[in-house]
Amino acid sequence: MRLIFLGAPGAGKGTQARTLAGERGIPQIATGDMLREAVAKGTRLGMEAKSYMDRGALVPDKVVVGLVAERLDQDDAKKGFILDGFPRTVAQAEVLERLLKDRELVVDRVIFFEVSEGELLRRLTGRRVCRGCGATYHLAFSPPKSAGRCDRCEGELYQREDDSEATVRRRLEVYAAQTSPLLDYYRSRGLLTRIAGEGSPEAIGRAIRQAVAR
Ligand code: AMP
Repeated sequence: MRLIFLGAPGAGKGTQARTLAGERGIPQIATGDMLREAVAKGTRLGMEAKSYMDRGALVPDKVVVGLVAERLDQDDAKKGFILDGFPRTVAQAEVLERLLKDRELVVDRVIFFEVSEGELLRRLTGRRVCRGCGATYHLAFSPPKSAGRCDRCEGELYQREDDSEATVRRRLEVYAAQTSPLLDYYRSRGLLTRIAGEGSPEAIGRAIRQAVAR
């Protein structure tokens, strides 16, 4: 199963990708998580990426494509994967197509998470993430049992720097300008399934499983 989860920041791709990847025993390949890990480790790539991420801009294609190409060649990605947050530009999608073709692989389905802009803003600015396990919470919609602590691993919860309101607005503009053209790209290839990204996580998960089973 080779899937792409497409949608604006805050659309719920990460939450759903983590669940489905766990169920199917395939990796969730989330470029945002990989980049944040590089930033936390202070690698050269991380330092280069940080300045773009902090202002809500896209990290240059060559940096991200290199990370993805390496990740696709790891053993656990051989039987499938969920790409979460990649591709984000038509140029990235074209490179991905070539990378997969070289490995005699194709994308099976692209799931597009449709969520209104008001809802995205509410979700992103209230989002809190666990430093330990990456689980996500929302101050209003799904708060942790004890403030500032992860229910699962008791890790510290933090607000991503790029989840501040000004940066979130910028990220949504970048999405509209650079990522949304991917909808036509994948629609014209007959790969796109649109699902309603508002509703309970369980209902959204069911819609994804149906789309994938088709
Ligand atoms: P995310 O966690 O997917 O919201 O990504 C956080 C940030 O990482 C984005 O705002 C970008 O700066 C960067 N990023 C993640 N994925 C990509 C990508 N495919 N291309 C360029 N930049 C990316």
